[in-house]
Amino acid sequence: MEPARIRTQVDIPLRFADGYAAHARAFTFHGLVDGGEHLALRLGERRLASRRGDAPTLVRVHSECLTGDVLGSERCDCGPQLREAAERIAEVGGFLLYLRQEGRGIGLYAKLDAYALQDAGLDTYEANLALGRGEDERDYTVAAQMLLTLGADRITLLSNNPDKAAQLQALGVDVPEQVPTGVHLSAANAAYLEAKVRHTAHTLDLSLVG
Ligand SMILES: [Zn+2]
Repeated sequence: MEPARIRTQVDIPLRFADGYAAHARAFTFHGLVDGGEHLALRLGERRLASRRGDAPTLVRVHSECLTGDVLGSERCDCGPQLREAAERIAEVGGFLLYLRQEGRGIGLYAKLDAYALQDAGLDTYEANLALGRGEDERDYTVAAQMLLTLGADRITLLSNNPDKAAQLQALGVDVPEQVPTGVHLSAANAAYLEAKVRHTAHTLDLSLVG
């Protein structure tokens, strides 16, 4: 894996729809393997851990979801997860990686096609397969490139997805700990979250939600 290089960095004051505000330092890169315009946001203040024995850096690897992140779609839990991650990372200092992997890598239009199939009774993974796509086409090589370039080679991963930690570990990022995100359950996304748990061993505990 070729290293990436930092291309630019710039400050972005964030304010979410609920009023929560945080200061972000955005990094862009040269040399990301898929040529995509992926973003790393540094939130909060902390000395980055790289030596053994230092506390790992808190990191969320978030995949772009236009409908959930921007429009507030209730078909998934991406928007609330992004909002939660921003606050939790800002509290202790760390990185939020925003990967341009709409629809688990299949793209926006295909994701909407998959929604239509879900309305006909398939779950989120079966719908991707019916479209001739993988259940989950995401590859986290660019995430590992960004983290290693930023000096965050030892991280605590904020995620319920065991595949992310395994891929990052295989790509040379030490992930000694994974911490779950909260459960953001609504009537509209219950079937989607249930499919995530069933298919990919997501660590969401839906039984805890009343
Ligand atoms: Zn989403």
